Amino acid sequence: MARRKKIYEGKAKILYEGPEPGTIVQYFKDDATAFNAEKKAVIEGKGVLNNRLSEYFMTGLNQIGVPTHFIKSLNMREQLCKSCEIVPLEIIVRNYAAGTMSKRLGIDEGTQLPRPIVEYCLKDDSLGDPLVSEEHIAAFGWASQQDMEDILSLALRVNDFLTGIMYAVGIRLVDFKIEVGRVYDGDFQRLVVADEISPDSCRLWDIETGQKLDKDVFRRDLGNLTDAYTEVAQRLGVMPKTSTPITKPTLIN
Ligand code: 5GP
Repeated sequence: MARRKKIYEGKAKILYEGPEPGTIVQYFKDDATAFNAEKKAVIEGKGVLNNRLSEYFMTGLNQIGVPTHFIKSLNMREQLCKSCEIVPLEIIVRNYAAGTMSKRLGIDEGTQLPRPIVEYCLKDDSLGDPLVSEEHIAAFGWASQQDMEDILSLALRVNDFLTGIMYAVGIRLVDFKIEVGRVYDGDFQRLVVADEISPDSCRLWDIETGQKLDKDVFRRDLGNLTDAYTEVAQRLGVMPKTSTPITKPTLIN
């Protein structure tokens, strides 16, 4: 079989050219990184779990009319997606204070916010993905005013959807990050949810115990990451209760 052309390799995924024009294949690696790749490990099974979970969330979003780049899953680690031009922003939605918001503003982690708060960061690893304002975004042309209205609407719809499905399985959606991309259809462009939605990009806490079921388990050395992600997948019913893809992390450095 001919080797596929690699388009891009990121920290957690590889993108290949897809079988049809306008498509890509997204491959989920087992690599985990944190603190702008200062901490790295290979966590066996993470890619499979994130592929499955992202498929589940993106399929649900497509079904309720929130457009995403996701077309279909191809196998345990790969999904076929529409190719899109990624808007160079990370869009963060927060329901409870945690992480950088708590640090920046001195608000205790877990404090419920008066309403969902949307933040924008410039997607630039060399700068550590800095927080930017809508003024920066408009002035530097990273997105238009219309794009920003569409992005806000997408982000809040994703938040309502994810909050509901997580609440139904006893999980609090503390915050999450999405990326959006432009899909072109002739002269017409529209924005879709792109990249992935998984416990790598969300904060998920057990409602009863507060146990962390997301990438903070790795960032903060709180236990076994695959156990946490498997728990999320099993509660959502996307992985049979008997499956045990659980192995110890291998530290790279
Ligand atoms: P914080 O700004 O508190 O570090 O992150 C807020 C939320 O966005 C968390 O759920 C975090 O996982 C997610 N997030 C922020 N930056 C990134 C990133 O570069 N990659 C991923 N996967 N998630 C991110």
